[in-house]
Amino acid sequence: MSSRDLDTFVDVLERVKALDPVNTRKWFDELSLVDFSGGQVEIGCPDDLTARFLEENCKNTFMQAAGQITGHLVSVKFSVKQGASRKQANTGSEQTGSGPLLRLHPDYTFDNFVIGPSNRLAHASCVAVSQSPGTAYNPLFLYGTVGLGKTHLLHAICNETMRRTAGARIHFISCEEFVNRFISAIEAGKLGDFQNQFRTVDMLVIDDVQFLREREQSQEEFFHTFNALYNNRKQLILSADSPPGEIPSLEERLISRFKWGLVARIDPPTYETRIAIVKKKANLRGLGISDEISEYIAQKVQANIRELEGALTTIYAVAKASGEQITLVLAKQALGDQVKLAERQINISAIIETVSKHYGVRLADLQSKKRSQSIALPRQVCMYLARSLTRHSLEEIGGHLGGRDHTTVMHACAKILELEQSDAKVKTSLVEISKQLSKQ
Ligand code: ADP
Ligand code: MG
Repeated sequence: MSSRDLDTFVDVLERVKALDPVNTRKWFDELSLVDFSGGQVEIGCPDDLTARFLEENCKNTFMQAAGQITGHLVSVKFSVKQGASRKQANTGSEQTGSGPLLRLHPDYTFDNFVIGPSNRLAHASCVAVSQSPGTAYNPLFLYGTVGLGKTHLLHAICNETMRRTAGARIHFISCEEFVNRFISAIEAGKLGDFQNQFRTVDMLVIDDVQFLREREQSQEEFFHTFNALYNNRKQLILSADSPPGEIPSLEERLISRFKWGLVARIDPPTYETRIAIVKKKANLRGLGISDEISEYIAQKVQANIRELEGALTTIYAVAKASGEQITLVLAKQALGDQVKLAERQINISAIIETVSKHYGVRLADLQSKKRSQSIALPRQVCMYLARSLTRHSLEEIGGHLGGRDHTTVMHACAKILELEQSDAKVKTSLVEISKQLSKQ
């Protein structure tokens, strides 16, 4: 490889950081150039997790940056550096359904988790479980409202367990996915495979088990999975938005089992914890942030840590778009808009109309029973935005979108919230639609 290639690579990296500060991470400095030939750049990553993070979140940005620097169309490949630790679990090859069952996020580690009075017990119990799975607390049940770090902690347990015990068989799955896989297995006549897959792991982590409500057959299946693993002293870790006894229509025998181990609550973070989280998140992206600005953000956004992160992102996005330095004045302007958006009365018709224009689908289709993906996604975006920007109830939102029930709306909100994190296209669409709405 020539030194010119290496220089180009450094330029490409710098350009990526400028193009997408939100997805930039400090560890980008550990990336290396493996090969640069035939219109392709191959980039060496520290481990599987980082390679997948780049593949899923940054591939287009790398291509764009490489194109801008070289003036040619360049394709991008991410590979794991030779000799790097294989930070990946044994996910088994005999899985039913699609996709591996351990897709960990490199950001969600214990190191990146800020401990405060609101989450101290939850954090300590997660650390204990990752150090002695199956014996410390079994099951471990975390609960708290949305955006307080449950999923982060679950990933951290898996990340840490993998680090300690290479090859541990861990399944991490959202409850919704568990239910979907269960239904597919029944349809395909492969229930045996499904059971085998879930009952033979060392650690089973199920996120958002409130999704089991009213799903009787899945509860039954989950009950047997639970027993099989528990009796074999395998670790079970669960999260939910409320304590076991308050999840509606959850069978008594599951409620009692969920309480066998440790039930740990996560509360909204205190002011000091929020400041520390803002700093941690900025640091993770390799961005400097002054005390003044982190204090301002922590004051402004109180309830949900995801929104805290969103506020940080907004400030950086506004600074980048305007080419200005990040000052308190800029931060206030940037967040002022966001707050105005939430406070103003946006009506649901305006949301549906704006979404329909954005995606180029007809209003009537959004309100129809059609289930094709091209209609379903925009419809879910409508539900999500209606939920976050208006005061309508789930039922009312469902009513505006073709008479759907409240669970459908709840499901849509959860899905878009997740896609907002994992799918750059959806994230961009949400930003654009919100901008349109704020102008009206
Ligand atoms: P939940 O699953 O409870 O809805 P998440 O785990 O998805 O919440 O957390 C939302 C965001 O907030 C994530 O980006 C996560 O990293 C961050 N977060 C939550 N709590 C903390 C914390 N104590 N320290 C650092 N980041 C946190
Ligand atoms: Mg979660």
